[in-house]
Amino acid sequence: MSEKKLPGHVKVAIIGGGVVGCSILFHLAKFGWKDVVLLERDELTSGSSWHAAGQIHTISSDPNISRLQGYTINLYKEIEETSGHSIGSHPTGGFYLASNDVWHDYLKRERSKARYMGLDQEFISPEEAARRHPLIDPKHYVAALWDPLDGDIDPSGVTYAYAKSARVHGAEYFTHTPVTETRQRPDGTWDVVTPKGTINAEIVVNAAGLWAREAGRMAGLNLPVQPMEHHYLITEDIPQIAERMQSGERLPAGIDYEANIYFRQERNGMLLGTYEPRSTPWKVGGTPMDFGHELLPPDLERVADRLELAFERIPALADAGIKTVVNGPFTFGPDGNPMIGPVPGMTNYWTAVGVMAGFCQAGGVGLCLAEWMMEGEPSIDVWAMDIARFGDYATPDWGTVKSSENYERRFVMTFPNETLPRGRRQKTTSIYDRLVARGAVMGDSFGLEHALWFANGPDDAHEEPTFQRSRAHDYVAEEVRAVREAVGAIEIANFANHEFSGPGAREFLDRVLAGRVPKPGRLTLTPMLTPKGKLYGDLTVGCLDEERFMLFGSGAAQEMHRRWFERHLPETGVSYANRSDDYHGIALSGPDSRELLSRITRDDVSAEAFKFRDMRETFVGNVPVILNRISFSGELGYEIYCAPQYQLRLFEAVEEAGEGLGLKLYGNRALMSLRLEKNWGAWTLDYRPDFTAAQSGLDAFVLWDKDFIGKEAAGRERSEGVSSRLVTMTIDTDGIDVVGDEAVMKDGDCVGYVSSGGYAHYVGKSMAMGYVPPELAADGSTLEVEINGEFYPAQVTAHPLYDGNGERMRS
Ligand SMILES: Cc1cc2nc3c(=O)[nH]c(=O)nc-3n(C[C@H](O)[C@H](O)[C@H](O)COP(=O)(O)OP(=O)(O)OC[C@H]3O[C@@H](n4cnc5c(N)ncnc54)[C@H](O)[C@@H]3O)c2cc1C
Repeated sequence: MSEKKLPGHVKVAIIGGGVVGCSILFHLAKFGWKDVVLLERDELTSGSSWHAAGQIHTISSDPNISRLQGYTINLYKEIEETSGHSIGSHPTGGFYLASNDVWHDYLKRERSKARYMGLDQEFISPEEAARRHPLIDPKHYVAALWDPLDGDIDPSGVTYAYAKSARVHGAEYFTHTPVTETRQRPDGTWDVVTPKGTINAEIVVNAAGLWAREAGRMAGLNLPVQPMEHHYLITEDIPQIAERMQSGERLPAGIDYEANIYFRQERNGMLLGTYEPRSTPWKVGGTPMDFGHELLPPDLERVADRLELAFERIPALADAGIKTVVNGPFTFGPDGNPMIGPVPGMTNYWTAVGVMAGFCQAGGVGLCLAEWMMEGEPSIDVWAMDIARFGDYATPDWGTVKSSENYERRFVMTFPNETLPRGRRQKTTSIYDRLVARGAVMGDSFGLEHALWFANGPDDAHEEPTFQRSRAHDYVAEEVRAVREAVGAIEIANFANHEFSGPGAREFLDRVLAGRVPKPGRLTLTPMLTPKGKLYGDLTVGCLDEERFMLFGSGAAQEMHRRWFERHLPETGVSYANRSDDYHGIALSGPDSRELLSRITRDDVSAEAFKFRDMRETFVGNVPVILNRISFSGELGYEIYCAPQYQLRLFEAVEEAGEGLGLKLYGNRALMSLRLEKNWGAWTLDYRPDFTAAQSGLDAFVLWDKDFIGKEAAGRERSEGVSSRLVTMTIDTDGIDVVGDEAVMKDGDCVGYVSSGGYAHYVGKSMAMGYVPPELAADGSTLEVEINGEFYPAQVTAHPLYDGNGERMRS
């Protein structure tokens, strides 16, 4: 259709005709936006889409991505029928092979996730796997997880089927139409420049795949994605396969994690791919504009050890000749998941980049992006794919380092207590070296290092990756004890701080937040809702004076929240800034925290003079601070925020004043344990846009006699009731705790899932939070939780096991 004239104006212009761009075009058109175009530099599929291996599966580290992968696979029939274009589908089913007990445990956890996602996976024995796929040697395996949705498709066929279906629904695509510039007009729309003319678009979507970085730079956006070289090979015909094909029997697809191989049937031979242990980032400086339908020179040396393992496990491969070796580049993001959505800090600029498994994921990406654009929010929580989960720390160099790590770990297990080593110390605070010297084992979140727990000095600061309780367990118990019985100090630089000022600030916050906006000097807790009543934040709002407010919230969600605030800001009357990098700090928690604080401030911080949920600007430890009387630990406690350049001074003052009070530094693991025995949820885990205020229990903080975003939907739900509720459970386990995403069962049926949990050290119980149907949410309700394939008795505990009335934090 390149002879057709480009329109002068459109609602959406999509850059890139790979599988991702075409899926977005299809979904927008199907849902009713016809005024949408896709612009492709060359022919469709001219990036990584044409040379993909075409294997499809549902397993992903994130349950919602798995769910969307299921959606993608189930969509294929529809686009084939709508377009009349064959997608070359082979729905063979497939299996994931475990060659040792640890991988078996991993698969049991995947099976547990699949239960509540409604995916139909089942364990089969290695012998049964070998019956379904006679080329594998079952002696190498201990178990196999079967997924009927797995199989393979023709990548080019799928891409064209999306594009042609989009056309059937009224949208248009233009090939041989490279976008050479994107220029923003003062009204926020974009002029999208091509050699064939310029289109004015209300929204631009960067779906430029291998050229995502180049397309981003045209708009001033530096994306941390990196194309990686990747090999697969196709064998000559294998006699056993040719024989089976006479009766039309295709082999199922498979993944062997330990051998790091994926395989499937290709004609009468096999296709075998692997993620090599030492990756090769491709064109770090940028993808050449004239790179076309090309492959890269193969280098089998790089995958030789993987092939050896493959030949052992699938012996017929060793005798088969290699017909074709494909080495092609495709783009990875820093954590291996796509980066989609409106870019924080930009207007009308969206991305759908870093999609490394496009044939499993593009349908879900297209669905979510279309819903988000047309309805203001996607129908499920897309946090794991949201571009806002990265900030300015995600530089192009960091992106290359992390994307390479992710490529290499594609089939390498990451344990729940494991932190990944590359790209670390990207952001540190001024007390980083002090914390490490005190024995901190560090983790990172939103690029910033923070202490997970404290060992007895740097030499002791190590932990084995495991699904069981690790050696950190006892150390964390000591930190919890110090907080409950004396005083603990935790760095809180990784909390987000948002500042609002101006004459319209209160009115704005009143509309954006569902809870009460406090009077000067006070703090309140409040949920933030979307128009559909979904949770979009659980925040602490503080009023410094009538025209100045601070919001404290999840550090990881800071750019997501910034995008939300900026989207809703009025033209005048309110200034807003994400101040998270301007405020670091330390929290003091525990019965002796008041005594410690009083030693380093001239203020009267007695219970009468500085009450629970008071806030003020003052001086602590000789530095200017914002002082909040609040604590996520459930104890008497204080959050002390200061500018980063003062944090070391504050830390030294705290340590010095803590002498003789039993002061102990504590980390994030202890904090997560402390909040668990208070039945308090955490953002991104228990509180997230999959759920509403009423489901999560955060409706207790809603102020119903004012107008706020989401009020109508939340009110409706109030009268109609909820489909699930967040509960806290104790679990009768033996040496193992939940991590998150485990199935919650009742009488053999999956009724919900675990949103977070672990060991509640002070009350001495293994605990979990999770969503279950309301009729199972009552205090004392008995359930089961599946951990590594075992079902453990669980009991709902509606009231916090520790300090149920909250007296200690108010004392
Ligand atoms: C060897 C190999 C095997 C793979 N195997 C699988 C597999 O088995 N299963 C699976 O799910 N995935 C697999 N993949 C990954 C899959 O190919 C990618 O996830 C997918 O192709 C990404 O699609 P995309 O649309 O994001 O990008 P691309 O396919 O790169 O498409 C981007 C498009 O944008 C166009 N473009 C770029 N810049 C401009 C511009 N300025 N103006 C206009 N157009 C522009 C390009 O020409 C291109 O057509 C494999 C990849 C490789 C390389």
